[in-house]
Amino acid sequence: MWYTKVMVDTTITVFILVMMFILGAVFGSFACCQAWRWRYHALKKKDLGQWSVCLHCKKRIKWYDNIPIISWLVLRGKCRNCHKEIGIADFLSELSLGVAFLMLSWAYLVPILNNWSVLALHPEFLALRLAIFIVTLMLLVVLMVLAVYDAKWGELPTVLLILAVIVGAMVAVLKLYEIKLSDGGDVLAGFVNMMIGVVILAGTCFVLYKGSHEKLMGGGDWILALALALALANWWLSLWTIFLANLLGDLIALPGALKKKGHVVHFGPFLVAAFVLVLVLGNCLPLLLKGINF
Ligand SMILES: [Zn+2]
Repeated sequence: MWYTKVMVDTTITVFILVMMFILGAVFGSFACCQAWRWRYHALKKKDLGQWSVCLHCKKRIKWYDNIPIISWLVLRGKCRNCHKEIGIADFLSELSLGVAFLMLSWAYLVPILNNWSVLALHPEFLALRLAIFIVTLMLLVVLMVLAVYDAKWGELPTVLLILAVIVGAMVAVLKLYEIKLSDGGDVLAGFVNMMIGVVILAGTCFVLYKGSHEKLMGGGDWILALALALALANWWLSLWTIFLANLLGDLIALPGALKKKGHVVHFGPFLVAAFVLVLVLGNCLPLLLKGINF
């Protein structure tokens, strides 16, 4: 559509990507706290208050011991006061959300900035693209709370699943509106495209869940898949997501699961990882093939 390319300075691009990584890591830390809060809420236990405290010795964690990723590495995953394990979930959550924010910024935010002057001529389009980007990041934060909760306690709280579906639906509405704005955009075709994606992604997960008697797939996974399919709003990308999630699951989780009997594979994290990969590749591969931005 637009062939004009106004490149943003490389230094600025790198700076933005680093900032987005840090922002993702901070939200990863936030997601962990929220998972604990939900857990305390579910167990009807008293909240630990507004400050970060060690869950073992209840001592307040100093700000310099609460820096995402870095503090965990410096303290080697242990509390400075009582030396008990903090848990790798915190570290993985911070790191993976940092990486996800960075990858999505590279795929979506940088192209927007590169084409700012052109996009500024269509303010509605520009606002829409930024909104899709931001709401997608919000969805990732909700998904990370779910992933941490699932990893720690092996269940997905229903309220959080519903929240994920609502945020996924928000992305879907924004994407349909983007189709409406573009020349000759067929919103109905876009909606059908999205619903086929829902059937492919959420449907497959639901069939696996029912068919395997919860051995291959947990009860919450298909609702998670529904949120992802809505946010993708594209059947081809949904197909890729289910394929990649299975591939990642087979490569990473299955060898361990085969060794231990009765071990349940947590499929949720693979779905989310595949979702991020597909979003990034889905935006960059056509770019690489055609050699144009947008
Ligand atoms: Zn402690």
